[in-house]
Amino acid sequence: MQNVAKSAFGEVNEKVREAGDILNIKPGVIDALTHCEREVVISIPLRKDSDIRVLSGYRVQHSSARGPRKGGIRFHQDVNLDEVRALASLMTWKTALIDVPFGGAKGGVAVDSTSLTNIEKEEVIRRWTRSLVHVLGHHRDIPAPDMGTDARTMAWLMDEFHRLEGFQPACVTGKPVELFGALGREEATGRGVAQITVATLEQYEVKVKGATVAIQGFGNVGRFAALACQEFGLKVVALSDVSGAIFDKNGIDIKSVFHHKFISEINDVDHIPVDSLLSLDVDVLIPAALGNAINDSNYNVIQADFIIEGANQPISLVADLELRAQGIVIVPDILANSGGVMGSYFEWTQNIQEYSWSLDKFRKELDQRMEKAFSHVFKASRKYNTDLRTAAFILSVGRVANAFEMRGVLV
Ligand code: NAD
Repeated sequence: MQNVAKSAFGEVNEKVREAGDILNIKPGVIDALTHCEREVVISIPLRKDSDIRVLSGYRVQHSSARGPRKGGIRFHQDVNLDEVRALASLMTWKTALIDVPFGGAKGGVAVDSTSLTNIEKEEVIRRWTRSLVHVLGHHRDIPAPDMGTDARTMAWLMDEFHRLEGFQPACVTGKPVELFGALGREEATGRGVAQITVATLEQYEVKVKGATVAIQGFGNVGRFAALACQEFGLKVVALSDVSGAIFDKNGIDIKSVFHHKFISEINDVDHIPVDSLLSLDVDVLIPAALGNAINDSNYNVIQADFIIEGANQPISLVADLELRAQGIVIVPDILANSGGVMGSYFEWTQNIQEYSWSLDKFRKELDQRMEKAFSHVFKASRKYNTDLRTAAFILSVGRVANAFEMRGVLV
């Protein structure tokens, strides 16, 4: 089958409409929820040697029905408006699903983050913040890290925001712990992915201890997911990133490889072709890199019994359908990687209260709330006799549509 590139936003909206039909929501409400509230496109001139290179930057605010918009900012060469819309909308469904008082947004800059020096990266995020400050703020729209950005980038963003608007550390999350960040936030997405993996295996009565796992992507999400999987007793047998992939049937010691910047640098272990990770015969596959990693052209190589979506939209809708038809259980992104925004919520509340939690408290709250979210989605899948993705959309679309209608649209 050919891999036909579809609109990423169109794919999310297909699920929103399906949930709307199941819940019998008014077509006009679904129409509103399949559009974005505000889209800002900016140009970012960047000094390069003796010349200037102009980058495209974005902030898309999908919904504020349930609270201030919330979502990461991505630096990647493939960033485009359709992708940012899709990711902004996924944030709305994610925050509703885990029941935190946020809406959804996403930002990005179309640039290969690895091609930027630190000074250039700082210049890009400061310019992005200056151009968008009028739509940002701790009760308007709160950015966070995503692909190609990290805690340091968020520190620059916060500093630029403070210069323009005064002291408001809750204006951004995912900051360094030394600079109003929260202990536990950095690991929260990956740890949440690992918790959801355990909850899924237990629900389907598969032994957790020794269950084999392959993880695509060794960035923030993949790295911490691998570490937590090992901590919870699973056996991580394969890891990949853009530079390479490694395999050890006895399990990779994650602690010893954790601090390598690239997988290709790791010695004393078998290296395998990057793409072959997807076809390994493992219990659990965790795609934690790019969107559309499993699509119409390669879904047929998958042998895992469970796929836990660490990345956003790593599986196309056609591939999702085919894989489920083969009996593979797929835990959707809006549930599986929601530990990140849950952690961001904890950081935001701590900043607003000017009170810091211990790492223990952070982890305990995260663990409890992730378990609760999984249990709600699983119960909804039984109630509506459907798969976990559709069940997750039924819960979140129902909540957002309800808030949207209660607020009223008349002025
Ligand atoms: P990151 O930039 O820290 O890491 C991305 C990783 O993917 C890198 O290791 C990179 O080398 C690897 N990669 C890129 N192309 C690859 C390929 N073709 N094959 C194998 N590996 C490849 O990004 P991140 O923050 O870990 O985000 C990863 C995914 O998780 C994204 O979809 C992001 O939207 C999603 N996500 C991130 C967070 C967060 O808190 N960071 C939260 C929720 C969802």
